[in-house]
Amino acid sequence: MRSGTSSQRLVGTLLVLNLLVATCSGESAVPLPTDSERWTYWSNDQIGEFVRQMQAKNPKHCKAYNVGQSVLGKQMWSLTVSTKPDAFPRPGVSPSSLSPSFLFIGGVHGDEPVGRQLMIYLAEELCLGAGRSDADPEIGAILAGGTVHLLFAMNPDGFDLRKRGNANDVDLNRNFPDPIKEPRFPELTGKEEPETIALMNYIDLLGNSLVGATHLHGGALVMVVPFDGNRDGTRSPNPTPDNELYLYLAKRYVEVQPEMAASTGIGADEGLFQNGIIQGSSWYPLWGGLQDFFYLKNKVYFTTVEMSDNKWPSQSTLPSLWSQHRPSMYAYMKAHLEQGLTVQVDFPPGSKEESVLVRMLNPEMGSPVEFRSKTTHSVHYPVPAGNYSLRVEWRSQEVSEGVTLAGEVRPGERTTLRAEKPSEPPTSAGGGARGGGAAAPRGEGAQSRMRRGGSGKGGVAVSAVENTSTTPGPNEPKPTMFPYVKLFSGIVIMGLPCLGYRYRSSFARGRASRSHLRSRRGLSHVV
Ligand SMILES: [Zn+2]
Repeated sequence: MRSGTSSQRLVGTLLVLNLLVATCSGESAVPLPTDSERWTYWSNDQIGEFVRQMQAKNPKHCKAYNVGQSVLGKQMWSLTVSTKPDAFPRPGVSPSSLSPSFLFIGGVHGDEPVGRQLMIYLAEELCLGAGRSDADPEIGAILAGGTVHLLFAMNPDGFDLRKRGNANDVDLNRNFPDPIKEPRFPELTGKEEPETIALMNYIDLLGNSLVGATHLHGGALVMVVPFDGNRDGTRSPNPTPDNELYLYLAKRYVEVQPEMAASTGIGADEGLFQNGIIQGSSWYPLWGGLQDFFYLKNKVYFTTVEMSDNKWPSQSTLPSLWSQHRPSMYAYMKAHLEQGLTVQVDFPPGSKEESVLVRMLNPEMGSPVEFRSKTTHSVHYPVPAGNYSLRVEWRSQEVSEGVTLAGEVRPGERTTLRAEKPSEPPTSAGGGARGGGAAAPRGEGAQSRMRRGGSGKGGVAVSAVENTSTTPGPNEPKPTMFPYVKLFSGIVIMGLPCLGYRYRSSFARGRASRSHLRSRRGLSHVV
């Protein structure tokens, strides 16, 4: 369930959340690597010190979190970088859904350390550049559009032990409830590891703000889009209902990296990758992975990046790997934050909380999202440039109670479509309309192809369109410090009470291809 309010309820009810300061985090401070050690694989403790220092250097725009503990008690460190005060998660409080966000995850497999190390270099640039007028304009454009979260190591024990699985030898990218094998998906099975539960809770907490995510692996050079799983277990296609959107997003990562664009696979995979992209089950099927789970359960456009053919390449190659992937990582953030379509649903003052369904009407361009709210709430779609139509329905009434919105997304811009629930009882047929006449927001008319939505019996008839350039503006609100932040803030998510909890969100699997083309190839190495 992507609802911010529901996430708050889930977290608030089931989790014990504590604020920590660095001195009581259970890990002793270690010095950061020296300049000569910069291009090495940093230890988990060094990452802990790194996130503390990043927060200390730019506390208004860069905040450090501990989202959970590994089997052996290592902290799972993350950073959130934003120029918007309400975009930071707090214990039990989701970030504002009004600002989109993107999440990088490293170190799911402990013996594939490239991703987590490159995320350190990325986080350093973002944290030190956030809010600075003299920073790289690309950083300004990304953070004007939204927020970036970085969870450096989902599997810190695996890194310490230099092995794939966690300390219990469980492959965390096989440890999530699977939509095919688990008939009660997305309910927990009871077999989830602490690291898995921690990530579920973290992404639940991020709520509807989280648009996209990717986890970084090694052992090949390719962008992988879901589904990873299929029904028959052979190497066969099983794309998602949003495959066109996924292929567009994958292309944004690959097209600025000639090495990946030219990658067709090596060894048993040779010739399998198309322009550096492959759909997971067409490569080799797996069940219980991150991307299938979070795409279906949280409606996050989740992918996998395989960053190097060598799982644990020599540290001497880190500078070239960073040069190779840096443009892609920036392009991928921009694809999710700088450009896209936002549906903003407003509620009159005094509204009761109710369920709202947002449905993308363009085929393969986004999943339906249902949320509960009584205050302004947004759903974001990281779509390519084009014209779009969406349907907003208030679920507490008949399905016909809704409005159809339409608008255009232009390259490098985020378009916002607004709908407002009318007051009860409606005062007029157009009681909920906004955006007409002199109050029309920028972008209406000449810039957009707005049309009045089809109204239902309740008189919902709205739509307004706002094309928003993500170039930072001079009037951008100045962030303020949250009162809970003093030296260091953290979230400890203790997930065991969640075992057995039944997730209630629904999902659509309607148009997924179920063709089962048997492959001539056997399964290749697992990355
Ligand atoms: Zn891997």
